[in-house]
Amino acid sequence: MECLFCAIASGQIPSYKIYEDNDLVVVLDIYPAHPGQLLIIPKQHVTFIWELDREILHKILEASVIFAKVIGSIYPSVTIYIPNGPYAGQRVPHVAIYIIPRQENDQNKIVMEWAREKLDDNTAKEWVEKIKNYLDPILDQWLAPKQKEAKPEVKEEKEEKPKEDVKDIKQKIEAIKKWFLDLNDTNQ
Ligand SMILES: [Zn+2]
Repeated sequence: MECLFCAIASGQIPSYKIYEDNDLVVVLDIYPAHPGQLLIIPKQHVTFIWELDREILHKILEASVIFAKVIGSIYPSVTIYIPNGPYAGQRVPHVAIYIIPRQENDQNKIVMEWAREKLDDNTAKEWVEKIKNYLDPILDQWLAPKQKEAKPEVKEEKEEKPKEDVKDIKQKIEAIKKWFLDLNDTNQ
């Protein structure tokens, strides 16, 4: 069978659907830690969140905040969980955001702890450098298409608008002149 989340998103597999639009579905997780746990599934099939089209990425992130607020109105706490890759707990190779209701002493149902080992100063400094080195090219790539798309649009607007304004002003002046001349004609 094809991807489970694609099948849920397309309706091939029935689900308890709460919301749907062209880009995403929000369904009840039928294997929740607590009832009301939600799954926000983008209709675009990609494994990792950073592979999504930018517009869809923004949409599912905003949806996750909206639905976290809904669940946070019912439960005292909420975890927004986005596993990326099998070792992060991703079971289906199709990115989804889990909205997990949380309440007191639910660690028997939800395990999201890690061995908190204090970083030594040298390791910390090494990692700051390492992450910055990885960040630069990724950030360049992330920002590049956006700038290319945005720049011509701004230019076009700047070039076209004054032309229209000048044209408008000229037309208005012509209209005023004509009105003035007409007025003089009628007065004479
Ligand atoms: Zn899929």
